[in-house]
Amino acid sequence: TTSRMFQPEDTIITLPHSVIGGDHFTMMAGPCSVESEEHVMRMATVAKEGGATIVRGGAFKPRTSPYTFQGLGEDGLKFLRAAADANGMDMITEVMDVAHVDLVGKYTDIFQIGARNMQNFSLLKEVGKTNIPVGLKRGMSATIDDLLNAAEYIAAQGNRNVFLIERGIRTFDNKYTRNTFDLGAIPVLRELTHFPVIADPSHALGVTRYVTPMAMAAVPAGAQGEIVEIHDDLAHAFSDGPQALKPEEYKDMTRKVFALRKLV
Ligand code: PEP
Ligand code: MN
Repeated sequence: TTSRMFQPEDTIITLPHSVIGGDHFTMMAGPCSVESEEHVMRMATVAKEGGATIVRGGAFKPRTSPYTFQGLGEDGLKFLRAAADANGMDMITEVMDVAHVDLVGKYTDIFQIGARNMQNFSLLKEVGKTNIPVGLKRGMSATIDDLLNAAEYIAAQGNRNVFLIERGIRTFDNKYTRNTFDLGAIPVLRELTHFPVIADPSHALGVTRYVTPMAMAAVPAGAQGEIVEIHDDLAHAFSDGPQALKPEEYKDMTRKVFALRKLV
């Protein structure tokens, strides 16, 4: 189960090019959306240069408005797969629907369950029946126990390769930040569960200039890795441009984060 009481030792997830959990620190980076074959290829190369071993990118996008870009679908999966393979990386991408689990599973190394689907129990059960690792994002109104119970839904089906992503929650004050980064949840989760805990400062803050300081703060808090959004043309990004790190900002962030990691 999810609790440390039943499994004291950390869960370690082994992928072709990465390890998540335990004393490992895993960097994941890429655009919010897969935008085109050549763009995601370029972003994967940047991600790799900054020390990421996993490239992210959404092909099925859970957009706030139904009239904005919804993702490239299967083409997006193909483009991200090619970008990961060309750079010797693993890929993570969101699966939004039970009906897409087989399709997304044909391409991806890791399923991402988005914040909006954290309590979609049918979806959790379905990915729980596969043996593909799952990155589970905290829902925006989910308590720590809600998150742990969602992880339990996946593990209960047999898939114990689960990691948790703190991506910020809605609070009474989200005027200056997109969400409230619950930094304190990180050491709490590390205590309560053996599953790896990853920080997503991009969605938690929603503002590029706050991403690097909070990515750094997550390290002494106990995060076992980061997932961040990068883009080389913020103004024209298909989604989440205002929170993306430019390539040079991203590399500066990872340099600082890896240096801090050595100290803690
Ligand atoms: C994303 O990773 O681009 C995303 C949609 O994240 P979240 O589910 O945390 O909002
Ligand atoms: Mn995003």
